[in-house]
Amino acid sequence: MKKGILLVISGPAGSGKGTVNAHLLERDDFVYSVSATTRAPRPGEVDGVNYHFISKEEFLHRIEHGDMLEYTEYCGNYYGTPLKEAEEVLASGKNLILEIEVEGARNVKARYPDAVLVMLLPPSYSVQEQRLRGRGTETEEKILERLARAKEEILCAPAYDYVVYNRDGCDTEAAEDILAIVTSEKCSLRRNPTVAEDYLNA
Ligand code: 5GP
Repeated sequence: MKKGILLVISGPAGSGKGTVNAHLLERDDFVYSVSATTRAPRPGEVDGVNYHFISKEEFLHRIEHGDMLEYTEYCGNYYGTPLKEAEEVLASGKNLILEIEVEGARNVKARYPDAVLVMLLPPSYSVQEQRLRGRGTETEEKILERLARAKEEILCAPAYDYVVYNRDGCDTEAAEDILAIVTSEKCSLRRNPTVAEDYLNA
């Protein structure tokens, strides 16, 4: 069975990653990688669904044991992708979505050059700011910290394979763009190097 696509989706806070990913996850060929984090849950977030919420000690223990595919420190908390779960999903042929920030994305690409890196962006920085304030889940200090981080993250866009814009009210279209990217990657000759033998011997 062909391995699934390791799909990294990064975007600054307010880019609408969660909403766009929810569309992709309505399909049964996409699985969401539930990250581990030391951040406290936001209202409504469920342990094991949004994140595995763990202590800093537990997180450091998992890094030491090689249990993380990648990890990073972001705005004072650790975030990381559990390795075993990721490998199992990819081996099953399903596509795995990693919703992670830019440093993690770069580490994934270094470890898995076949990974597909998508940068999801709001239409502009000012729209991003409006969305972030509208969410009302963060303190002013956290909002400013995340906006500052977004300015750094956008400079990493050239390290990505694709950019997709999430315009207001157009999250379905953004998900369709990502689906088109995955389809085109699956059809690429780079991913099908034995096409002639496969065809002649089928
Ligand atoms: P939030 O606290 O808003 O849920 O996430 C903060 C940032 O951490 C987001 O950019 C999110 O995509 C990223 N993130 C979430 N999980 C992981 C992970 O496992 N690894 C890395 N490198 N970043 C993550």
